[in-house]
Amino acid sequence: MERFNPAEIVLMRKAGQITRDALNFVETLIKPGISTLELDKSAKKFIIDSGATPSFLGYEGFPGSICASPNEMVVHGIPSADCILKEGDIISIDLGVIYKGYNGDAARTFPVGKISPEKQRLIDVTRESFFEGIKNLKVGHRLGELSHAIQAYVEKNGYSVVRELVGHGIGKDMHQPPNIPNYGKVTDGPLVVENTCLAIEPMVNMGRKEIWLIEDGWGVITRDGLPSAHYENTVLVTKDGVEILTL
Ligand code: MG
Repeated sequence: MERFNPAEIVLMRKAGQITRDALNFVETLIKPGISTLELDKSAKKFIIDSGATPSFLGYEGFPGSICASPNEMVVHGIPSADCILKEGDIISIDLGVIYKGYNGDAARTFPVGKISPEKQRLIDVTRESFFEGIKNLKVGHRLGELSHAIQAYVEKNGYSVVRELVGHGIGKDMHQPPNIPNYGKVTDGPLVVENTCLAIEPMVNMGRKEIWLIEDGWGVITRDGLPSAHYENTVLVTKDGVEILTL
């Protein structure tokens, strides 16, 4: 778990702000009839115009600047002209930027037009599970306290947590140690150090926890075909508490 100095923290904050602003911008574009490729192009331009670089573009060969994952797709959806959003869908947008060598990473699930109460509740519980988690994220405590709190909140609400995909440390690299599962025991994981940055990202399935990888080698979907939601922020942990950098 990396410790950041004050100058690095300034850059992590700025990377986080651009990430947040880009996500908020994408949210304004979401409506029935728009394709996820259009969202991707607009997000890319916004990020570059903000003085940053889209970190997902070209990452291990990923072709987009955002991941756009509708309905039963959990994460890593490749933006496509053929993926056109329609009323009642939900769409998870994951987006990362690099600013002066430092990374921001965040995700939200948005409604497309009017959605069912069931889908709205899934979005709400996923977001709430992040906040339940960070109540338990403290310097000198096990990271597993956060992981356990997320899982407990999700399962109490009747949903399930994806196991194969986890949060991560973040800094000069988008993905760096430690792994941050959204499940586990309070005694799991390393002790949290001060002035570290973490990307915490519950992925919550309405039905069962099992997932498939689709044929494009990127998209991850629920095996039971039920919807999934995602909520992620990059946070800074100090001895005074948790500062959310992408909100
Ligand atoms: Mg992430």
